[in-house]
Amino acid sequence: MSLPTIKHVRAFFMGGATAKNKGQGGGDYHDQGGGHWIDDHIATPMSKYKEYEQSRQSFGINVLGTLVVEVEASDGTTGFAISTAGEIGCFIVENHLSRFIEGKRVDDIKLIHDQMINSTHYYSGGGGVVMNTISCVDLALWDLFGKVLGQPVYSLLGGAVRDEIKFYATGSRPDLAKEMGFIGGKMPTQWGPHDGDAGIRREVERIKDMREKVGPDFWLMWDCWMSQDVNYAVKLAHACAPYNLKWIEESFPAAQYDNYAELKRQVPAGVMVSTGEHHGNLAAFRTLSETGIDIMQPDVGWCGGITTLLEIAAIAKSRGQLVVPHGSSVYSHHAVITFTNTPFSEFLMTSPKADTIRPQFDPILLGEPVPENGRISKETLTKPGFGVELNRDIALERPYTH
Ligand SMILES: [Mg+2]
Repeated sequence: MSLPTIKHVRAFFMGGATAKNKGQGGGDYHDQGGGHWIDDHIATPMSKYKEYEQSRQSFGINVLGTLVVEVEASDGTTGFAISTAGEIGCFIVENHLSRFIEGKRVDDIKLIHDQMINSTHYYSGGGGVVMNTISCVDLALWDLFGKVLGQPVYSLLGGAVRDEIKFYATGSRPDLAKEMGFIGGKMPTQWGPHDGDAGIRREVERIKDMREKVGPDFWLMWDCWMSQDVNYAVKLAHACAPYNLKWIEESFPAAQYDNYAELKRQVPAGVMVSTGEHHGNLAAFRTLSETGIDIMQPDVGWCGGITTLLEIAAIAKSRGQLVVPHGSSVYSHHAVITFTNTPFSEFLMTSPKADTIRPQFDPILLGEPVPENGRISKETLTKPGFGVELNRDIALERPYTH
């Protein structure tokens, strides 16, 4: 079969600081309405400032909003993807990246990816919103390629190595996640080094209370969102180890590799160290892998897309490390079901009280699968591309054209 070429790329956004409609969720899953667990006194690098301690939205965590990239082939097939990059991402796609995309064949994904990465080094800083944008284009290209061939993305990647994906849940209610069939629950820490030992004691009370609710074997983890220093993280890990803490995640900002290596040396036996959702390029993951952490957690919508995620997974595999991507729903599912070193995956609870299952990127995707009894089967992922469609009932803005 002769493959079509890519005729148009278009970029839209919803939510975020410049949108008319805010707080809808979507690709920027921090962009939620009031009273949501994901914005309730979660420890961050900004928590040391009292005015930014209670809410992450107060310091602008939802300023970007959702980026939607749509690619249209010469045969009329369209593919699309979403990430977190909003209006800035639209500028980059329409004014810069479009030149590398239009006119290429739909299977020229690696060539386009390499040109996007190398043409943006001078302003990407090795990651951040530029890499979120590149990731979104890469995912849209994989979606288009799958839809042109009539095959799911996981087949294009070499096929599934397991029949189902098992999930742990990230949210405020691991006890409810257990009832829903998940294998574990990861809670955000709410206190940090500026709270001193009182912060440690409060977290111990939280995990003690949750351990009593979920029994001895259900996994419990801490997600620390870059809020700690080595001393605090080590103390927290030791204080929580008696409650069978499974891992401690993202204690430090991405570039503090020495701190990750030190934390790995000092955690109690059996407590794993993980991070990666804010590492934005392949070299960063190589350095991260060298720290000896147990689980690398790239976000496929932020690390360079599926094309880079495959390379990260290979680095992890070479060291016997796990790669368990940060959330990312279908974009992650189609990759990890092909990885031998991803024995479980993350489901991010986006219902406001973490008491019901809501699709992670609700409301922007149609047909977004959710775990049933904590699992998604291979059969659920057999539709072409990533198996989802763009919800056209949502008002999307296209601020730039080319
Ligand atoms: Mg995390």
